[in-house]
Amino acid sequence: MALPALATVVTPKAAKALAALDITTTEELLRHYPRRYARRGDLTDLASLRVGDTVTVFAEVLSSRSRPTRQRGRTMLEVVVTDGTGRLTLTFFGQAWRERQLAAGRRGMFSGKVGEFRGTRQLSHPEYVLIPAGDDIDADAVAAFASEIIPIYPATAALPSWRVSSCIELALPLAGQVPDPVPDSVRAASGLVTLPAALRHIHRPQSDADVRDAIHRLKFDEAFVLQAELLRRRQENRQSVAQPRAATGHGVLARFDAGLPYPLTAGQVAAGEDIASDIARGWPMQRLLQGEVGSGKTVVAVRAMLAVVEAGGQSALLAPTEVLAQQHFASIRTLLGPLAGEGIISEPGAVTVTLLTGSMAQPAKRQALLEIASGAAGIVVGTHALLQDSVQFADLGLVVVDEQHRFGVEQRARLTAKSADGTRPHLLVMTATPIPRTVAMTVFADLDVSSLTELPAGRAPITSHVVAAADQPRHLARVWERVVEEVALGRKAYVVCPRIGGEAGDRGSPQEDAAVSHGAVDLHAELQAGPLASVRLGLLHGRMPSEEKDAVMRRFAAEASLPDSIDVLVATTVVEVGVDVPSASVMAVMDSDRFGVSQLHQLRGRVGRGGLPGLCLLVTESADPSARERLSMVASTTDGFALSEYDLSVRREGDVLGAEQSGRTSSLRLLQVLQDQDIVTAAREHAQAVVDADPEFADTPGLRAAIAALSSDRAEFLEKS
Ligand code: ADP
Ligand code: MG
Repeated sequence: MALPALATVVTPKAAKALAALDITTTEELLRHYPRRYARRGDLTDLASLRVGDTVTVFAEVLSSRSRPTRQRGRTMLEVVVTDGTGRLTLTFFGQAWRERQLAAGRRGMFSGKVGEFRGTRQLSHPEYVLIPAGDDIDADAVAAFASEIIPIYPATAALPSWRVSSCIELALPLAGQVPDPVPDSVRAASGLVTLPAALRHIHRPQSDADVRDAIHRLKFDEAFVLQAELLRRRQENRQSVAQPRAATGHGVLARFDAGLPYPLTAGQVAAGEDIASDIARGWPMQRLLQGEVGSGKTVVAVRAMLAVVEAGGQSALLAPTEVLAQQHFASIRTLLGPLAGEGIISEPGAVTVTLLTGSMAQPAKRQALLEIASGAAGIVVGTHALLQDSVQFADLGLVVVDEQHRFGVEQRARLTAKSADGTRPHLLVMTATPIPRTVAMTVFADLDVSSLTELPAGRAPITSHVVAAADQPRHLARVWERVVEEVALGRKAYVVCPRIGGEAGDRGSPQEDAAVSHGAVDLHAELQAGPLASVRLGLLHGRMPSEEKDAVMRRFAAEASLPDSIDVLVATTVVEVGVDVPSASVMAVMDSDRFGVSQLHQLRGRVGRGGLPGLCLLVTESADPSARERLSMVASTTDGFALSEYDLSVRREGDVLGAEQSGRTSSLRLLQVLQDQDIVTAAREHAQAVVDADPEFADTPGLRAAIAALSSDRAEFLEKS
């Protein structure tokens, strides 16, 4: 039985207001859970009231008086009550009619948050119940009123919490008709309350236990639906066909390994083995390779690509930006050395590496497409341009996606569908955002994971400091001195800004405009005219034409002794991912409080790559203690896993997978991947059993419907991380 439409459950006006909270169906309304609960509180003595407390007092009305306010036609009612120990004022705006109700001598309970106005403590718009005149006081009724649990909903100005609450009141009788994603047998085996009970209790709890049981059940639902879908995808992947690609042991990969200038780390070897055994199988590899910035993921990817080439196929590496694609192209060719070939016909035994990006000139693009289609290109490096239909591979065996969070799940799916013969290529996804194991289990249950947990030997440590520029302008001057000192040693520096700036077209959000923040264009000019006048400055941001960006990057990467080399690069976050300039030793991040924890960690991975100790200066003018704490945390550790756990733990509740609690719908509203691992584990076991028995979910229509409604949380999570 389908739930009735929202507009038939609440008034049309309310339905419109709910739409602003992204609530358009009756089920979405029922799944709009309270953000928190308030209690009226225990009865409090008037003498011991503290400002800010939510209290319930039992008191008698002393006086009641209404007077006009400055707002024309509006009156203010002031009621003074006492409990014998003290006095309290209750205020009501525009509700003069209450004067008759709250007559002197009436007794009742008054509940609200204690405020203060001109030295007098008051409750504004308290809730209250009055004892019928002449009645004895019923102690139970007093206690019941005081202990009632009041749900507080995510709300908007147009639709305050109490109005959301009354809309939900109208929908609650329909709770029994919400499709249940969890089969009854699973529910019973897991000791969960029924769905209608959970919905009723989360909205209208009688006790703490009600809230606890309801939340537990609803969290289980979320975990169960997500796991069922991910495990189904995993199973479906197992059943699709990929060409096995096993390296021969005496081809180009073996020659590459023999020529490597360094030994592989244990993690690189292990990841290589994982990948080798995956791609030798008849179903597509679906592997996530995660590792700190600088942990050496590229060489792992190159070895995987060479194995596929050796087995007769092609590999594609997908990078999130043109700058990165070009860097990968150049560094892969350098890494291959004499093994790197070029063009349609390359040296025997050499591997043609082909670049394809959107900004390439037509003739170069045509040439690249030809190399790809003919099969001459062994390794293809590119951007989104690779996803276009005009790109036809002769025999695509492996897709490597670098820095996965810049690609949506959809885009990945498009590339892995690029095999002509109905088989699917193997997939390796690389991310430098360390994902805590618990998160990986929850949101990447369809992928296998390899982790590079150590950095290659000889890597110099990065030291980070928070520079509080607002307290001490001298500190900022010291930053520039430090940069000049490094440059004098032949090293390079990054100065990273949160925005481009420089012209009217560059408008951030309104609050960004209001606050002064550093734009790269302006800071570049300022530094050139002032503290960094003595060094060679460059500017890099996303609005520059890509030839210009390339030229700047090349000059920054060039030896400091060369005449047109750049010493200091003032840049936006275009340098965030993958950019590799080994001689860079310092990074100053301006307005560092505007960056996320993981992003800062990524950024500073750009320095200290060439055996030189790295220094990261986190400049901030913010006095906000929580911003300062975040920055201190980043400065205190270079353990990306620790930082990513910290990042998750400080994000607002409900924001874990990127959905704003303020109302955007998400399929993970309650589940918190760090804290709720037990629930995820239990849900996963049950979900696996369901997927094994009924992979199409034919017998579980509720589950099928819930999966269809799954939002792309994972993409959101990755975008935000
Ligand atoms: P990321 O994981 O951030 O992509 P890269 O693949 O760019 O890291 O590697 C960072 C640097 O470490 C590169 O300059 C690379 O040549 C070097 N490197 C990779 N593996 C090793 C190793 N086993 N020993 C020494 N240096 C290595
Ligand atoms: Mg990389």
